[in-house]
Amino acid sequence: MNIAVYPGSFDPFTNGHLDILERSMKLFDRIIVGVLLHPSKSCAFPVEKRMEMIGKVLGKNPKVEIVHFGGLLVDFCRKVKAKAVIRGLRAVSDYEYELQLASINKQLSPDLETLFLMASTNCSFLTSTIVKDVARHGGDVSTLVAPVVAKELKKHFRA
Ligand code: ADP
Repeated sequence: MNIAVYPGSFDPFTNGHLDILERSMKLFDRIIVGVLLHPSKSCAFPVEKRMEMIGKVLGKNPKVEIVHFGGLLVDFCRKVKAKAVIRGLRAVSDYEYELQLASINKQLSPDLETLFLMASTNCSFLTSTIVKDVARHGGDVSTLVAPVVAKELKKHFRA
């Protein structure tokens, strides 16, 4: 079975993440969405909430599993027997960080491949940070995230 891990903070899961995930599903038998427990950036939503939102957006899907992880990505990939890591590339600004990440992972785990999918044009400037900024000021995020995520953002920033 060809298994890939799609790791990220997903704070929150956007239409850009969904686009990458749906396209990855065509390439692999199983995708494990690895939700980072403690990303370097501080999160608006706790890990359980981030996972719950992804689950609701995806609905029942036998090809996808949502799992949280901490520690090294390569260790997580080894544990779940993944052959590849999926990452999305948006603007050039993503490139340097992603190159660093892919290089260190290659060094730590030579058999693990990192696969980059270019962001679709309509998602290429979409980030979780932008979505949160718009939602924080009461803007309409309905074209950027799924309805369930938009609802949670509204609730979060009202509180
Ligand atoms: P991280 O903190 O690991 O960067 P993110 O949740 O920001 O976590 O992103 C997870 C992955 O999804 C990264 O590879 C990122 O480049 C990719 N990604 C995020 N937003 C988009 C988008 N709009 N289009 C394509 N890929 C995206």
